Amino acid sequence: MNQLFRRSANTTGAIALGWLILQGSLAGLPAFAQKESESLTYSELLSKIDAGEVSSIELDPTQRIAKVRLKSQGSSEPPLSVPVFEQNPELVRRANDNASLQFDIQPSTDSNAVAGLIANLLLVFLLIIGLMMILRRSTNASNQAMNFGKSRARFQMEAKTGVMFDDVAGIEEAKEELQEVVSFLKKPERFTAIGAKIPRGVLLVGPPGTGKTLLAKAIAGEAGVPFFSISGSEFVEMFVGVGASRVRDLFKKAKESAPCIVFIDEIDAVGRQRGAGIGGGNDEREQTLNQLLTEMDGFEGNAGVIIIAATNRPDVLDTALLRPGRFDRQVIVDLPGYQGRLGILEVHARNKKLSSDVSLEAIARRTPGFSGAELANLLNEAAILTARRRKDAITPLEVDDAIDRVTIGLSLTPLLDSKKKRIIAYHEVGHALLMTLLEKSDILDKVTIIPRSGGIGGFAKPVPNEDIIDSGLYSRSWLMDRITVALGGRAIEEVVFGAEEVTQGASSDIEYVTNLAREMVTRYGMSDLGPFALESGNSEVFLGRDLMTRSEYSEEVASKIDQQVRAIALHCYDIARTIMRDNRALIDQLVETLLDKELIEGEEFREIVARYTELPAKQLTSTKG
Ligand code: ADP
Ligand code: MG
Ligand code: ZN
Repeated sequence: MNQLFRRSANTTGAIALGWLILQGSLAGLPAFAQKESESLTYSELLSKIDAGEVSSIELDPTQRIAKVRLKSQGSSEPPLSVPVFEQNPELVRRANDNASLQFDIQPSTDSNAVAGLIANLLLVFLLIIGLMMILRRSTNASNQAMNFGKSRARFQMEAKTGVMFDDVAGIEEAKEELQEVVSFLKKPERFTAIGAKIPRGVLLVGPPGTGKTLLAKAIAGEAGVPFFSISGSEFVEMFVGVGASRVRDLFKKAKESAPCIVFIDEIDAVGRQRGAGIGGGNDEREQTLNQLLTEMDGFEGNAGVIIIAATNRPDVLDTALLRPGRFDRQVIVDLPGYQGRLGILEVHARNKKLSSDVSLEAIARRTPGFSGAELANLLNEAAILTARRRKDAITPLEVDDAIDRVTIGLSLTPLLDSKKKRIIAYHEVGHALLMTLLEKSDILDKVTIIPRSGGIGGFAKPVPNEDIIDSGLYSRSWLMDRITVALGGRAIEEVVFGAEEVTQGASSDIEYVTNLAREMVTRYGMSDLGPFALESGNSEVFLGRDLMTRSEYSEEVASKIDQQVRAIALHCYDIARTIMRDNRALIDQLVETLLDKELIEGEEFREIVARYTELPAKQLTSTKG
């Protein structure tokens, strides 16, 4: 806007300047000529007439000039100009008396006036041109705005995605459900012949990175049809109506190339409940959504365009989108379990060189909670590390480092010996010791004081318990042990250095503990308050709906919740501190070893611990490898 304004101001400036120069030179010309030829005065002219020396006079009363030709002048010479009065009775009389003199009165066009006129015309002309230029420019700009949706097509079209069902692993049920869509795209007659209606829209629901986009591409690839894709956020533009026109444009193109797949990613960006949202509805989004609904309704029968949309927030979608004839088919694409992870790893290991001692099973076992995208990334990181270390094939070492890299961060250079390093060592040993000694805790994988990107001074990492994480069922005792382990860092600091010397290094541990304890109280019914859901799981605020929810309990209950959360945290903290006090000698030994080696593997850690105290039964079976 600013740019446009400044440019047009410049244009007018240029015009004004041009006009000034022009006006000056045009007006100057006649005056100049006049001076040049002025050589007679009026009285001289009169006497020359009387003397008969004048051959012709052309009188121009408007300019008050008489052009006088003398008999002595050659015909090629210009006439002399003599200034005269407006009325010249004397001159006229004498000229008429003189028979040999040719006398004309020429009320000729006023050359000055002509010059002025031309200049003015030019000015008007230039102004018009200038105005037109400004107008053209601004219409260009507004045309651009109007054409956003059209000319700059924001959707991608892939004639062949090259992705097959084989490339998608770990989401077998989803694949099976979508097999039907593939058969329809391949042989629509088979369905239309018996009057079957194929769903127009399929909604893929699942967390990020689980392979929704990949799955949609695989459908197009299997069926051999073009793949149109756009992200819901691309529909939502600043200008009202642009999103709607994009939808129109997308569907127009799609219908032209039917049969095909239209994939709308992040449909929640556009398909949210209408009339919701802070500050009232969003006109643009509503228009876009309405257009989308209209387009979906507009398909005649089986037009051969199948819309696949993806979201991880099906709960916020406008109900109109989920009605029959729209996205009436929902397919859940969830995080993969062990078998799924193994399958995904196999897909992504196809094009990578793995040494024979790398076990994909072991990797799958160690990565519960990983999405397909994270697994793909993990193998890629391992390959990058391998290349950097100039090895021929990925070994278990690179896989290990890659897991740490994607879960915790890039490793940095170790700290120099310092007080800070000592405190970190104690802190991490606190976590690691509790992991080892608590009955229900996941067992220790490794503890290290090599810093990682993101301000991590060190870490103690458990081998994730795939049974528990994959099942998604967490017992109260397991959660309590988790909280205790998380408090181990702070507890050891207090026991070793004293209550006055504890650091803020435990702040993220404490935050974690508070959140987890709170969930136990308010959502899982795991406190003395009993089995009440005191908060809903959905705490996102950006929807008007959710913003309006009031807390479902009284002030009194709120303070009881706080009490219970505190009780859990303090109880666990007590356990942690007790274990630290009981194992002072062991702790010092562990810290010395850690300071020396900077990294202790779980196995070795347990060996040291076993020299001082008895290990719980769970530690005896190693799950690694
Ligand atoms: P989403 O769309 O669900 O966020 P994507 O389909 O974009 O996830 O996945 C990103 C990448 O992760 C894919 O290109 C693929 O390399 C990998 N990936 C994710 N899920 C799977 C899977 N189930 N099988 C194989 N690869 C997967
Ligand atoms: Mg995606
Ligand atoms: Zn910690």
